[in-house]
Amino acid sequence: MLVLAIESSCDETGVALYDTERGLLGHEVFSQIKIHADYGGVVPELASRDHVRKTIPLIRSLMQSHQVESKDIAAIAYTAGPGLVGALMVGACIAKSLAFAWGIPAIEVHHMEGHLLAPMLEEQQPEFPFVALLVSGGHTQLVEVQGIGEYQILGESIDDAAGEAFDKTAKLLGLDYPGGPMLAKLATKGEPGKYVFPRPMTDRPGLDFSFSGLKTAAANAIRAEGIHLAGGQSSQDDLPENAEQIKADIAHAFQQAVVDTIVIKCRRAVQQTGIKTLVIAGGVSANTELREKLEVLMKKQGGQVFYPRPEFCTDNGAMIAVAGAQRLHQGTTELKVKAKPRWSIEELPAL
Ligand code: ATP
Ligand code: MG
Ligand code: FE
Repeated sequence: MLVLAIESSCDETGVALYDTERGLLGHEVFSQIKIHADYGGVVPELASRDHVRKTIPLIRSLMQSHQVESKDIAAIAYTAGPGLVGALMVGACIAKSLAFAWGIPAIEVHHMEGHLLAPMLEEQQPEFPFVALLVSGGHTQLVEVQGIGEYQILGESIDDAAGEAFDKTAKLLGLDYPGGPMLAKLATKGEPGKYVFPRPMTDRPGLDFSFSGLKTAAANAIRAEGIHLAGGQSSQDDLPENAEQIKADIAHAFQQAVVDTIVIKCRRAVQQTGIKTLVIAGGVSANTELREKLEVLMKKQGGQVFYPRPEFCTDNGAMIAVAGAQRLHQGTTELKVKAKPRWSIEELPAL
């Protein structure tokens, strides 16, 4: 059965076609990065408007390139939450309207279940049970996964998400939005050990995270070195000669602190649950340093780590399609449009 999927929870419009027998046929993503870059973050109203512009053309182009007609599609999966309410509403309305016009059911998909199941788009797939580390722009969670919809949050961030901390620190370093991947790139030029930032909440038991203090520590170092450009504190001429190297050193130390903290918590989660399969998903799981360190950790633990290819780590329609395909039976033709900006993954029903 063929599933059409729509993702519109934030600043990416994603669409995908997924066959329950053959797997992913194709997907397309339009990123709104350029639209929001001048503002240093996502502007919700601009995000909604652009989803309105892009979703239908993307669906049309995807269907044409795979010679799929509306009569071939059995159901439409769409991101119903969590996310920006206006952005979600666009995807939900389009999904419901197409489903009504084509006489097929629509399926509500939880965005984080999409991230969590993204590794199922790969050849190497994890088996249940597993521990999932969800690290994205809005979430940092460790989840015990016994099966589809059987989720228990073991720990989560009490303040900023890991991706958010990456983006905010990147902004302080003068990098464009979203700075996470650029900070990671800059970090490769950094000299290890020049700065040491805290590993928050690792000195006490528990699986919760906190990243806002780490961001502040990086901000303090940036200020102390006089390389703080934001807010006009210093002009380009006042910057120290080796400003670029200092920035790289700080980026390196920041990334190291985030990665170390996550690795420590993952080790705890694996030991506490006795589960030897770790899945990492969400935008920050594209981070090479994090992947490598978690590979080493799981090897030592006699287990294995699974993650999606980088294009399926950040927001995309393919992950919504694969999650929707698991929940085909929950599809409905009722016309009520649902958008849930706040929605815990623990509320999902088990299959
Ligand atoms: P959520 O999924 O929680 O609703 P989101 O959808 O905005 O949030 P994603 O699209 O999953 O988040 O991920 C985007 C985040 O991932 C951004 O914060 C971005 O900076 C971060 N990110 C992407 N690539 C990397 C990388 N290589 N290193 C660090 N962070 C990265
Ligand atoms: Mg995004
Ligand atoms: Fe996401």
